[in-house]
Amino acid sequence: VKEKIYCVGCGAAIQTEQPEEAGYTPSSALLREPVICQRCFRLKNYNEIQDVALTDADFLKILHGVGETDSLIVKIVDIFDFNGSWISGIQRFAGSNPVLLVANKADILPKSVKKQKLISWIQKEAKENGLKPVDIFLISSSRGQGVREVAEAIDQYRDGKDVYVVGCTNVGKSTFINRIIKEVAGEKELITTSHYPGTTLDLIEIPLDDGSALYDTPGIINHHQMAHYVNQDDLKLLSPKKEIKPKVFQLNEEQTLFFGGLARFDFLKGGRSTFTCYIPNELYIHRTKLEQADELYETHKGELLSPPRPGQLDAFPELVPHTFTVKDAKTDIVFSGLGWVTVNEPGKKITAYAPKGVYVGLRPSLI
Ligand code: GDP
Repeated sequence: VKEKIYCVGCGAAIQTEQPEEAGYTPSSALLREPVICQRCFRLKNYNEIQDVALTDADFLKILHGVGETDSLIVKIVDIFDFNGSWISGIQRFAGSNPVLLVANKADILPKSVKKQKLISWIQKEAKENGLKPVDIFLISSSRGQGVREVAEAIDQYRDGKDVYVVGCTNVGKSTFINRIIKEVAGEKELITTSHYPGTTLDLIEIPLDDGSALYDTPGIINHHQMAHYVNQDDLKLLSPKKEIKPKVFQLNEEQTLFFGGLARFDFLKGGRSTFTCYIPNELYIHRTKLEQADELYETHKGELLSPPRPGQLDAFPELVPHTFTVKDAKTDIVFSGLGWVTVNEPGKKITAYAPKGVYVGLRPSLI
């Protein structure tokens, strides 16, 4: 019987199977003494935070815990997947603690869009979702844009208290925190072995200079995001690193667009109209007639219409339809994690298809 080994850093049971989960260590590193998990190894050696994913129940426990503290909560969302990366109920958990809302990946949005307009949009959407943040920032963690301003705001709003950073997986929380660490620490080494999270399995503590700390919480998996249905290579394709170039289509009634093999957009009724697609630049958009769409998908998914790739077709969920009559001009049909299509004129009937389980919905146009 194999003896269970525990990470000397965080106390998690060491495992070699699931890189996304706590305690993961590549088998090759098991020979190292003492054994520490990859996450702690990176933290210790590179001052680098790596996210682990948690089960929903564990995550709720953590949110509850955060709610019981007297602190500032920093909530990160992905502006490219605003709805999909939203953590619902955060205001309830936060209690009376202030919440600072940070929308990340601003670099993906077309540069022509006015920042103030986006912030107002975020504010409205946040309110619709029951959150009244003390402030809203639109930033790019990967480029470092706006990070200093957030760091300053955090320092102001926390008013000497601890800070908890929350967000679902893939919003760029690790990238953000790694930037913040640089911002706070400058060149000096901030996280050292002595600051090492001794027994707290789930929270990573980054000490601030007044004795308080900034805590990185694990990300929750929002199951309705596209990311969970594609492989690593395709996930790269779906995580744009550059400004998205909107693609405009003039469609007649009964025309269909395929977004690779991941989603489908049927324009049913409402007269010839323009639709603007905000989806990753590299994803192929195929236009066809509605009457041919079913057959085209059956015969060409995995090839012309990919991702998914040929080897993944069995595991890939079926595309399910969501039908909308769009009443207002400038409405986005959102495919969580894939992007959105702006319906420019009112009175259009559309069926949007996405893999079973992926969120599809309407919202007032972001851009
Ligand atoms: P976490 O799971 O929330 O910790 O997210 P990560 O920090 O690991 O980032 C998830 C993905 O988003 C990675 O592919 C990052 O490169 C990417 N990413 C993070 N921040 C940004 C950003 O500001 N802009 C863009 N375009 N991509 C980002």
